[in-house]
Amino acid sequence: MTDFREREPGSPDALRAGAEGRSGADAAHRPGPRPSPRPAPSDAPGKPAATDPTNAGDPAAAMEELLRTLSLLPGPTGQEDEVLAWVRREWEGRGEVTQSPVGNLYLHIPGPGPRVLLAAHADELSLIVRSVTADGFLRVLPGERDTFAFPYFLGAPLKVLADSGPLPGVVATTTGHALTPEQRERTKLGWDDLFVDVGLTAEECAERGIRVGTRMVWDPQLRRVGRLLVGKAMDNRLGCAVLVDLARRLSKPRFDVTLALTVQEEIGMVGASSLARDGRSFDVGFVIDNGLAGDIPTVSEAHVPVKLGAGPALVHRDSSVHYSRRLIAELRATAARHAIPVQDLVLFHYSSDGAHLARQGMETLLIAPPIRYSHSPFEAVDVRDVEATARLLEAYLSAGPA
Ligand SMILES: [Zn+2]
Repeated sequence: MTDFREREPGSPDALRAGAEGRSGADAAHRPGPRPSPRPAPSDAPGKPAATDPTNAGDPAAAMEELLRTLSLLPGPTGQEDEVLAWVRREWEGRGEVTQSPVGNLYLHIPGPGPRVLLAAHADELSLIVRSVTADGFLRVLPGERDTFAFPYFLGAPLKVLADSGPLPGVVATTTGHALTPEQRERTKLGWDDLFVDVGLTAEECAERGIRVGTRMVWDPQLRRVGRLLVGKAMDNRLGCAVLVDLARRLSKPRFDVTLALTVQEEIGMVGASSLARDGRSFDVGFVIDNGLAGDIPTVSEAHVPVKLGAGPALVHRDSSVHYSRRLIAELRATAARHAIPVQDLVLFHYSSDGAHLARQGMETLLIAPPIRYSHSPFEAVDVRDVEATARLLEAYLSAGPA
C-alpha cells in the first residue's frame, strides 16, 4: 500500500504527521468515462483445483513458510530484483513467464473467458543513501512516498545492499549520556538528526560499494508472537505469497488468468501504471495488498472495524478509487459457499495498484488481508488470513459453471 500523507523530508516538521495530500503524478491521472467490459462469470463449487503436494497437508503452515521466505528477501522500491527472481523460479513451468522493461513480472495461465489479472506489488519500504560523511556515516532519506511520522524507528537494524553484498547497519542518533540538555528537551527529530552507522570508515564504505543511491531495508528478526507472524515487508509480500500459492494451486482456471508482481508501488504505483504500455490488456483486475487491522488499543474500532484472524477484507474504496460492487458481491458469495470468512473495509490515507488498473479499463477489486503496524519493521499478520485469501481466489477462479 502507499501512504498518501505527503510530507517534505528534511526538517523536524517533516516527521510530523502532515495534512493529507495527493501527489501530482497520481492526481494527474483522472479516470475518464469508459465502457465496462462487465464479464459475468458464474460461480459454483467445483472440483478442487490441483494442489501442490507441499500444500496438501497443512495449508496454513505452507503459507507461513512461503511468507517467511518472501518477507526476508530484500526488495526496496526500484531494486526488487531478488523478489522477482525468486518468484520467477517458482513460476517457470507453470505457464508463460515474462518481464516488462520496468520490471513487472507476469505469469500467464491460459483459460477461456474474460482476461483476469491478479496483481501484487513486490517492493518494500527502504532508506536510500543521499551522502556519506567523511567519517563513514550514511545520511539517508526514505526511498518511498511515506516519509514517516515521529519517531522514526531509531535503533532498527538494517540490511545495507552494498555492491559487495549485504552489510548490517543501524539507524542512529545522539542518545543517553551524549545528549546535551537542549537535545534532551527535543520531542521531534528530522532526517538531518538521523544517520545510519555501518561501523566502517568512508574508505571502507567505498571499497564495499556503499555510495550515494545505495538502498537498505529493515532487517528485524522474523518471529512468531502468539498467533502473529511479525517482521518486515508483510506489505506486500503477503500479496506475493498469495500469487505464488495460487500459481501452485491453479490448474485449469475458468478465466484467462495472468498473475503479476508489480514494481515501485510504494512511490506511486509506477509498475501498475505502466501495464498498458507493456501491451497488456485485461477485463478484470484483482489487487492483493495488505489491509489495516483496527484491533489495537490506540486505533478506534469506529474507524477501522477490521480484526486480525477474521479473514481478508473486501475493500470498498480507498484514497484513489471505488472498487467494483459486482466483484465484491461475487467474492462474498464465493466466500459464503466455501465457508471462508471475509470482512469489509473502507480506507483513507491509503492507495493501491487498484486505482491504476481501474484507469486502464479493468473492473477492479482490492482484496486485503489485514495487518497491524503497517509501514514498520514489526508488521504483524495472522497467516490464516493470507491463506484464506489464496483459498478464496482459488475457489473463484477455479469453480465450474453452475
Ligand atoms: Zn505500503
